[in-house]
Amino acid sequence: MRQVWQMAEVMRRAHFKDFLMFCIVSLKYHYSVVVRSGFVTFVGRPNVGKSTLVNAICGVKISIVSNKPQTTRTRIRGVYHGEDTQVVFVDTPGIHKPVTHLGERVNATALESVTDVDVVCLLVDACKPFGRGDQWVADHIDISKAFVVVNKSDKATREQLLGQLQAVSVLNAAEYFPVSARTGDGVPQLLKALVSLMPEGPMYYPADMVTDTEDAQWVAELVREQLLAVLKDELPYSVATKVTEWEWPRVRCEIYVERESQKGMVIGKGGELLKSVGQAVRAQMPEGAFIELHVVVDKDWQQKPERLERLGY
Ligand code: GDP
Ligand code: MG
Repeated sequence: MRQVWQMAEVMRRAHFKDFLMFCIVSLKYHYSVVVRSGFVTFVGRPNVGKSTLVNAICGVKISIVSNKPQTTRTRIRGVYHGEDTQVVFVDTPGIHKPVTHLGERVNATALESVTDVDVVCLLVDACKPFGRGDQWVADHIDISKAFVVVNKSDKATREQLLGQLQAVSVLNAAEYFPVSARTGDGVPQLLKALVSLMPEGPMYYPADMVTDTEDAQWVAELVREQLLAVLKDELPYSVATKVTEWEWPRVRCEIYVERESQKGMVIGKGGELLKSVGQAVRAQMPEGAFIELHVVVDKDWQQKPERLERLGY
């Protein structure tokens, strides 16, 4: 009798254990398919470090960076993949006082990007006084729901950083974060706060996709980045790039300038400048790539709507 009772107890426990396992597995399955996902837009004046921060968060170069204002001309998306989370970061052109048709277009692109996203982050430079330009951007977003990100904390003195945090506190934003896109300081805290605000949603991108920029567009951007690094004065603003042929491994990229006099400056003495640009771009492309660069004069392209359209701006 006693044995029978013991057997029954073992079975009961075994069933209970099975039942428990079943519960754990199904709960785990349930939670593993629930994804938190959403969109975050970075806005701010030119040169505050929006593109650098998107690159730092996504862990790869998504957007080109330079020390010249208005480097980013289009809306660029970078995807952050966390554990059961996916955050799509939207890098935007710096908002500035436009003087050309291109300027108007890129400003409009930036301002359109703040609608229909889960969180907007207003980036400001810790080392520059919060000015009218920053305030103008703040006035064009729903600041009470936005995060204010004070970037370049590595470069600012302690007083500068505290002063800037105090200056932006009057904005009555949702939260404030001092960060350094360059060193990564403060970035995990910002990321954590952003992820916590993401609603339950679908995976917008496959797990191995970090950007939706097409290869040809990316190569054109890499060429422009190298040119921005070496060109001086107003010339960087006069340059546009477009890949016109893609017969892998041969890629032809055209570089547009606005005036005949600029052509020589881009080519450099004996073609040296263009050659070094090509080499630097090739170093960032898969092995075997062959990049052909051609400089084309397209008079005042910045002022021509149809040209801007063709260039994707
Ligand atoms: P954007 O115009 O707002 O996209 O700014 P970029 O990302 O192109 O950066 C503008 C310049 O600021 C570049 O020279 C960057 O290297 C630099 N920069 C960006 N973030 C930081 C940072 O956290 N610290 C420092 N010291 N420089 C930064
Ligand atoms: Mg940028």
